[in-house]
Amino acid sequence: MSADSLQPLTGRCLCGGVSYRIDGPRRNIVNCHCENCRRTHGHVAAYTSVDIADLELLEQQTLRWYHDSSPDTYRGFCSRCGASLFWDARDGRGKMAVAAGTLDDSGDLETIGHVYVAEAGKYYVIDDELPHFERGNAGALEQDDSG
Ligand SMILES: [Zn+2]
Ligand SMILES: [Zn+2]
Repeated sequence: MSADSLQPLTGRCLCGGVSYRIDGPRRNIVNCHCENCRRTHGHVAAYTSVDIADLELLEQQTLRWYHDSSPDTYRGFCSRCGASLFWDARDGRGKMAVAAGTLDDSGDLETIGHVYVAEAGKYYVIDDELPHFERGNAGALEQDDSG
């Protein structure tokens, strides 16, 4: 982990109704190709992951949570501009996935792999050399988790 990765990161939705600050370790970016992510993000979802305790909501008046029934997770979005910002597994691990595209500056974060490629859209190809996982990452990519 480089020193830069300890710098706070900030981000927001398109309209600014939701903004946040991350002050703590954050995982490198994993692209999720699952159908639910594609439907809510409009395409592949690129997420970092942080400890919920390290995620400070600076503005949240338009933040709403959509209960994603499969699996039992919650997706945080802006009710004004429609941005998808967060994915909360609520699985007891205390982690929050944060959509990388909403970061003001992604610092030294880099994309490290793809998950749920079994559900990838037929309209694109995944042509990089990064690890691919048919479903979840089974913890393999989580090893990069700094937390
Ligand atoms: Zn917004
Ligand atoms: Zn997904």
